[in-house]
Amino acid sequence: MVGQRTDIFDIGALGLSSGEGRRLELEVAVADFHFGGERYSVPGGSVSATLDVSHTTSGYSMRLRLDTPLEGPCMRCLADAGHAVAVDAREVDQPGGGEELSSPYLEDEHLDLRAWTRDALALALPVRIICKEECLGLCSVCGEDLNRAGPEHAHEPEPDPRWAALRELRLD
Ligand SMILES: [Zn+2]
Ligand SMILES: [Zn+2]
Repeated sequence: MVGQRTDIFDIGALGLSSGEGRRLELEVAVADFHFGGERYSVPGGSVSATLDVSHTTSGYSMRLRLDTPLEGPCMRCLADAGHAVAVDAREVDQPGGGEELSSPYLEDEHLDLRAWTRDALALALPVRIICKEECLGLCSVCGEDLNRAGPEHAHEPEPDPRWAALRELRLD
């Protein structure tokens, strides 16, 4: 089943009895998303994920792990950020266990793997995606990449503000 994408995974079909577990390698589609005003995607539009499923006494416990590069720009300089995201998420679903022990991704033993993967990726993102901590960003005047422009990059000082005021003045 290599290369086949799984959106909804039928856990019940594993036929696990209480105390049994299974590890699965699955391919999950991840749609492009917007973050901080920029667009990001995963290579090929899908990620390889490891799903561990354990049948507990009356429910399931699940663990989702994946590691993927992100394609998209540095939020400061707009060059490719070369960012990667690692996910290690867990869900427990215990019927009758209340809100805390109910997974929003599991419905009648059908796991919404696509929704879980999307949410887990979103939670794993840093506050800002930048190419490097010391990224200088873009020049606020001309938009040049200051990482490449060098320290001598500068602009003529702004014209005397009084001239600007005079330009505003209109004499009919
Ligand atoms: Zn940058
Ligand atoms: Zn400039």
